Amino acid sequence: MTSLDDLPIRDDLRGRSPYGAPQKSVPVALNVNENTHPIPEDVAHDIVARVAAAILRLNRYPDREFTELREALAGYLGHGLAPEQIWAANGSNEVLQHLLQAFGGPGRRALGFDPTYSMYGLLASGTGTEWIAAPRDDDFELSPETAVAAVLEHDPDLVLLCAPNNPTGTPLGLDTIRAVADAARGIVIVDEAYFEFAEPGTPSALTLLEGRPRLVVSRTMSKAFAFAGARVGYLAGDPATIDALRLVRLPYHLSALTQAAALGALAHSGEMLAMVDEIRGQRERISAELVRLGFAPHRSGSNFVLFGGVDDPHAVFEALLERGILIRELGIPGHLRVTAGTEAETTAFLEAIAVFAPVGA
Ligand code: PMP
Repeated sequence: MTSLDDLPIRDDLRGRSPYGAPQKSVPVALNVNENTHPIPEDVAHDIVARVAAAILRLNRYPDREFTELREALAGYLGHGLAPEQIWAANGSNEVLQHLLQAFGGPGRRALGFDPTYSMYGLLASGTGTEWIAAPRDDDFELSPETAVAAVLEHDPDLVLLCAPNNPTGTPLGLDTIRAVADAARGIVIVDEAYFEFAEPGTPSALTLLEGRPRLVVSRTMSKAFAFAGARVGYLAGDPATIDALRLVRLPYHLSALTQAAALGALAHSGEMLAMVDEIRGQRERISAELVRLGFAPHRSGSNFVLFGGVDDPHAVFEALLERGILIRELGIPGHLRVTAGTEAETTAFLEAIAVFAPVGA
């Protein structure tokens, strides 16, 4: 049998593992931070009608500049953003890949703060960019001083700031983002994939874009918008930065079906986002209950909770899976991560995890 090692694969890809969050068909899937609420049926019908209309025109290539979608995304984001400041792709993973293709590459470095979203390192390796994982402060926080010290030490071409951070849930202050943007000579990416789950009133890094042409803020429709299966991510930044992304994207990368579906979802953004408050409530419930059980949940501004105090994470992961509950094992010693789902899913998780409550709780 041929193995990877037998192939003339790039040397820098040898020995690497692909992104591999388990995809299992279980009753309670709380492992990849999706919005577990289905999209409202009336919205689904409108999306179907729009996709049906697009199908009649599939003989032609789609709008390469996804003009209408950029207008709708600019409208959704607000902050006075214009369509020329918006980019979109098949999930924010692809948005990030475009950034690494345009601004990273052989001989260049991307800096992030571990533990952070595992795709950053994989996207770096896929584009031949050196990946540097600098440490965080205690409790996975990231102060302006710690972040700026790493920027000055490594002089990166790109900095990836995950706000709030996956897999820890840690919110990131604008003071840190501002300090990094001022200290870095390269592109500073603020990944706000989970921004909509932050405490109401939390300012977005979008408020920092003005006058900072190397700062970009990426978002996704996969999480709060309950649209992960459609694959739509986007960013806001300077029009010149977006022109750079046009150099590396494939022509017509956003299919006409994707554009039609995303426009349908954005036309109903209020309904699509209606469950966000409820999910935030379940997140708070998980954290409070885990504390009561004697676990150590970390501060979260997202739709998931990372918690410590787990004696044997792998055994707990397996035991929950046997009960049809899939959560996430990340290789952080003593820790597991769970997505805040519906009330019933949260109840199922909390009942199952209670069996493993630290002794003495
Ligand atoms: N950024 C972060 C921090 C994420 O957690 C994820 C998904 N897990 C993504 C980006 C990518 O999401 P998508 O490609 O679905 O937009």
